[in-house]
Amino acid sequence: MLKSDIQYVKGVGPKRALILGKIDIHSIYDLLFYFPRGYEDRRTQTEKNEFEFIETDILSGSVVDYFEIYTSSSLRIFKIIVSSSGREFECLIFRKASRKYDVFEPLKKKIKKGDEIFLVGSVENDFFKPKFNVEEIYFKSDDELKINFNRIVPVYLLTSNIDNKTFRKIVFSALNDNVDYINEIFPYDLTIKRNLLPRKIAVEQIHFPKDVSMLLRARHRFIYEELLLMALAWNFKKRETKRIKKNHSYTVNRNLLTPFKKNMGFEFTGSQKKAINEIFRDMQSSHPMTRLLAGDVGSGKTVVAISACLLAVENSHQCCFMAPTEILAEQHYITFKKFLSNLDIRYELLTSSTPKSKKRDIEKRLENGDIDILIGTHSVIGDNIKFKDLTLIVVDEQHRFGVRQRATLRQKGENIDMLVMTATPIPRTLFLALYGDLELSTLSDMPRDRKPVKTFHLLEEDAFKKTKEYLKKGVQAYIVFPLIDESDKVEVKSLLVEVERIKKEFYDYRVGIIYGRMKSSDKQKVMQDFLDKKIDILCATQVIEVGIDVANACVMIIESAERFGIASLHQLRGRVGRGARESFCFLVSNVKSGDAYERIKAICETTNGFELAQKDAYLRGVGEVLGVRQHGDMELKIASVARDKEIFEQAMVDAEEVTKDDPLLSKKEHQSLRNVLNEIYGKSLKLIDLN
Ligand code: ADP
Ligand code: MG
Repeated sequence: MLKSDIQYVKGVGPKRALILGKIDIHSIYDLLFYFPRGYEDRRTQTEKNEFEFIETDILSGSVVDYFEIYTSSSLRIFKIIVSSSGREFECLIFRKASRKYDVFEPLKKKIKKGDEIFLVGSVENDFFKPKFNVEEIYFKSDDELKINFNRIVPVYLLTSNIDNKTFRKIVFSALNDNVDYINEIFPYDLTIKRNLLPRKIAVEQIHFPKDVSMLLRARHRFIYEELLLMALAWNFKKRETKRIKKNHSYTVNRNLLTPFKKNMGFEFTGSQKKAINEIFRDMQSSHPMTRLLAGDVGSGKTVVAISACLLAVENSHQCCFMAPTEILAEQHYITFKKFLSNLDIRYELLTSSTPKSKKRDIEKRLENGDIDILIGTHSVIGDNIKFKDLTLIVVDEQHRFGVRQRATLRQKGENIDMLVMTATPIPRTLFLALYGDLELSTLSDMPRDRKPVKTFHLLEEDAFKKTKEYLKKGVQAYIVFPLIDESDKVEVKSLLVEVERIKKEFYDYRVGIIYGRMKSSDKQKVMQDFLDKKIDILCATQVIEVGIDVANACVMIIESAERFGIASLHQLRGRVGRGARESFCFLVSNVKSGDAYERIKAICETTNGFELAQKDAYLRGVGEVLGVRQHGDMELKIASVARDKEIFEQAMVDAEEVTKDDPLLSKKEHQSLRNVLNEIYGKSLKLIDLN
């Protein structure tokens, strides 16, 4: 019954079925599970409550008089004088329509003086007479009155060609006829333990709640349901990877690891050691590794990743190190050179600007097994790239890659070990929601000699003055300019103009420039020159946000800082303060208030990524920061992992419990749960294979 086509529901029909199809409503079930985006409180007697309703006004009373107001435009107005609790209201209905049609004809036929009417809209308090802008109008005899008036009324996010009033009516009648077919999907114990509203009642109440407390209980039920299903899905996924056996293995020989450590010239921090242990343990286990290495900017993820690569190479396997931008890939390549030059390792850099002949050579050598480590951008997932024996992939700044790219890379070898890295500080619950199939290692401590970057909000001339003081002491500086579109020629031109200005201002110093559209070889040369101190000031765009690593660069000016988000500012700032020297970041901006000012202030106040992430979440919504939308593994309709943290934690505990004795949910009492899980996650995401 619930699966029947939506067109057979009362009030729908084939035409409306097409419209509803646009918002993915195809069956009665889809309709009943299309939840409101909010509610209006249209009750005449309102309880005091905590719920945030969508604002609206209602008015009921009797019709004193009515008439159409003649206008010369296509805006048509009908006025009704309504008497309510001893006051008279001027109620106006506006319609856009051509003069040819009498849009108010049905209304004129129906309305009579003395009628009791019920209006929804907004009150405007005029000095003389209160006015009411009418959005919906009902008479006592209307069936729809009970759906739309004197109750909490649902508001849906709809597509054009269908309005809320119509939709409400459809839902109302579909509920009436079908709600009894909705069965509980949770085992009885669970509904008791979490005090959950039965599914059937929750569906009713989420659309047409009796009161606020029932509304909250219905929402709670579905938030929990959604999160539990997600937790179960990740559970399955994890179990599945644990079932896979890999064909390769590693033993720790240390013939590369030890000399690498010597070259490093510093000791691993405690959390680096711990992470390396976790990674090595995963790699040596019999099923593939999928681990996320999370650590704030500058926490030293790269050397951890290199250690993993070296374990692979020690065992004569190949590995691939993928970075989101060319500059970052190049930077990693330079790091490899720095730490591995005297070791017997063959590594190459591959990006979209690698010359064709070189590329062909790399392809051939990869296939023959004559390259141990391939470093590169998404070029490394190209069709022609074939490895002889790829066993480990490292993905840097994981959130910048889509799921598909990850998957494609994975297919380059058999049951590959994968290490993904991110500098985005992720609260644990959010991590579990986004990457529930991964294990987590966190770099919680910074390399010992690291000092927090002193950050100031300044006017440009002050920033320049200070920078000159430090340049005199022999340090190097970055000046970062916002560029919205790196591929836009006009913008690049304006960047070049700015750089000329900088050159004049800092005429004693050597000024270099780097930006996304530059030729790869030019970029490499500029970076190398900056490293070799042949450049004092590097003007750059956001391309340096990730990965650039020059210890002597201790000053950064960020121009028009108000144009960057918190996450970007934090990442950019992470480019300085990488050596033992005291470092500075000057945020140049004229703003004195508003969101942008709050962002700048937050950056000045702390260098702790986790604290900032919380603020950023507050200012912009967690999803955006992490690129959740593009991630697309899990789409939540009603729950929000950031807001519903506690419920999510309960759901995770419960998911463990439910699957403990019944990992495949094959027991009878888990049958419906399994079905729903399969429906939501089974096919579309290939997350789980229950069969
Ligand atoms: P991120 O985690 O942001 O990618 P990097 O891997 O680029 O950070 O490391 C930042 C800098 O810190 C690099 O210059 C790196 O060589 C250095 N570094 C890493 N680990 C240590 C350590 N344990 N002690 C001192 N310096 C370190
Ligand atoms: Mg990095």
